[in-house]
Amino acid sequence: MSFDLKNIIRRNILDLKPYSSARNEFSGDNAVLLDANENPYNTPYNRYPDPNQSDLKDKVSSIFNIRMENIFLGNGSDEAIDLIFRAFCEPGVDRVISIEPSYGMYKVCADIQDVAVDGALLNEDFSLNTENILCQIKQETKIIFLCSPNNPSGNLLEEEKIIDLLSRFEGLIVVDEAYIDFADGDGVLKYLNEYKNLIVLRTFSKAWGLAGIRLGMAFASTEIVEVLNKIKYPYNLNILTQEFALEALQEFKKRKAWLSDIINERERMEKQLTTFSFVEKIHHSDANFLLVKTKNPASIYNYLVKEGIIVRDRSRVPLCEGCLRVTIGSKKENDLLLGKLKTFSL
Ligand SMILES: *Cc1c(COP(=O)(O)O)cnc(C)c1O
Repeated sequence: MSFDLKNIIRRNILDLKPYSSARNEFSGDNAVLLDANENPYNTPYNRYPDPNQSDLKDKVSSIFNIRMENIFLGNGSDEAIDLIFRAFCEPGVDRVISIEPSYGMYKVCADIQDVAVDGALLNEDFSLNTENILCQIKQETKIIFLCSPNNPSGNLLEEEKIIDLLSRFEGLIVVDEAYIDFADGDGVLKYLNEYKNLIVLRTFSKAWGLAGIRLGMAFASTEIVEVLNKIKYPYNLNILTQEFALEALQEFKKRKAWLSDIINERERMEKQLTTFSFVEKIHHSDANFLLVKTKNPASIYNYLVKEGIIVRDRSRVPLCEGCLRVTIGSKKENDLLLGKLKTFSL
């Protein structure tokens, strides 16, 4: 395999001269800042945020043990997904492959950029079908999107198969690990130095409980991260997010307690849900949700909405016939769901 980013990146992006703010040229605290037409009052919110997000990146670097040059921080991992399309896929020409079923944002970002998505069905048990992926690769295929643990199926993808793909495909492979904290494995971040075509997505929206502040990460080679930084909005992370995240990322103990809580509840819910007559199967989950196969998904879904409980109907998604996706909530929330389902089955 010979991976060369220059064969992948769009010509206009390679040639792009990014917006530069004068603030990049000065570091220190005592400057008189008359460069950016800011209001001198209302400190500190009158100032534009650090476009390099140095303090936060330093923190993220120490948490994940990844060098700062290999970290892109975005407005959710959704921003990283969007930028990856815009950096590497020529509209109307290039294509990507996505496993199917998987997260909806890959297809949405592809459609916005006018990039065709070739779906590669997983096996019936949602394990990775390498053959289905390989036979979809065309001359124009720039990226393969994998998601592990996968949404909506919940299972971790097999590491050996991901590695095999990384060594065989000459384009980029994005592995979205939004749910990796809920799984037993530690994911594929450890292969970052070995495979220059690997991009790993992580987020603070799930295990860290910070979906509201919008903060996601892409880990990749220095060259790839430089490209993403070059095309992002200069101030993509606002001051509030950067400051709040710095504080919140100290809370390792809290996060660990949440994780063990949610995983315990996942196991309890799995046992409880199997007792209902209308539940046919509960798929194994390495994430913070369960994919539950039922006899009558639409009527259960509608009944729950009426009762004020919202789950996700995935029954029209490939390989997910009859399936509802249920997030693991607090014990109280989960008990409310179980109670309502008991009344439904009567
Ligand atoms: C929830 C989720 C994300 C998180 O996206 P953010 O923009 O970081 O909130 C990413 N990928 C998948 C597969 C998800 O389910």
